Amino acid sequence: MPELPEVENVRRGLQPMLEGAVITGIRTSAVQLRFPYPAGLDERLVGRTINTVGRQAKYLTIGLDTGDILLAHLGMTGTFRKASIGDRVRGHDHFTLVLNRHDDDFELIYNDPRRFGSIGFVSAGHEHPFLRDLGPDPLLSSFTGSELATILDRRRIAIKPALLDQHAVSGLGNIYVCEALFRAGIHPTRPAGGLSPHEYDVLVDHIRAILNEAIDAGGSTLKDYRKADGTSGSFQDRFAVFDREGKSCRNCDDKIVRMTQAGRSTFFCETCQR
Ligand code: ZN
Repeated sequence: MPELPEVENVRRGLQPMLEGAVITGIRTSAVQLRFPYPAGLDERLVGRTINTVGRQAKYLTIGLDTGDILLAHLGMTGTFRKASIGDRVRGHDHFTLVLNRHDDDFELIYNDPRRFGSIGFVSAGHEHPFLRDLGPDPLLSSFTGSELATILDRRRIAIKPALLDQHAVSGLGNIYVCEALFRAGIHPTRPAGGLSPHEYDVLVDHIRAILNEAIDAGGSTLKDYRKADGTSGSFQDRFAVFDREGKSCRNCDDKIVRMTQAGRSTFFCETCQR
């Protein structure tokens, strides 16, 4: 499942391809993605120029010259690829933008076998409900330990599932939460609201450092994630705890343990995390 670093890499791959491109047509498949396609997408997109390719949490935000925004979420298995006009359609191709940029006609195709992804549309001056409810982006420099402490204040649920809640912090997924808690030396079952001010600071520093390292490594490739150019990320080679059950901790000699919290696997070291 793509997390923030993977989505950021997709964004960086799409940006030079899309900025300045004019949308000359769209195609949607007969089956819907996680949500129905927005009504009237054709009229709202065709003829528009793409000005920006941004990201908010795990959403790609494609900004148009009208001020409207085309939203894309990759779900579990979503990928984008650039194709030539008339290229053979592949299974699970669901949404296509036909584009023209610098006299070059091409297509951007969204493929998603499991269809947990979505395409949305935000009219200029409006806020999409998906985006409105998101917590702060941990990569913003304004995100600090004291802000995290305020968000998690007195929450009794464990810190691990609390950090996965997109209303608390947006864009964090299972991999990077496990890795950040390990580096911060914080046990995943501690109550979310019960860390010391210093621990919140340390945790935020590690969250940001890990996300930046993972972005630089091209993200983590587990099953389906590919960057926009079809290549894989390499951060999975640097996991300290994630998916390493029974292997030696990189810090001490103990074995990495796996447990289930809120239906998700947590990987951690019982010696290094307190
Ligand atoms: Zn250890």
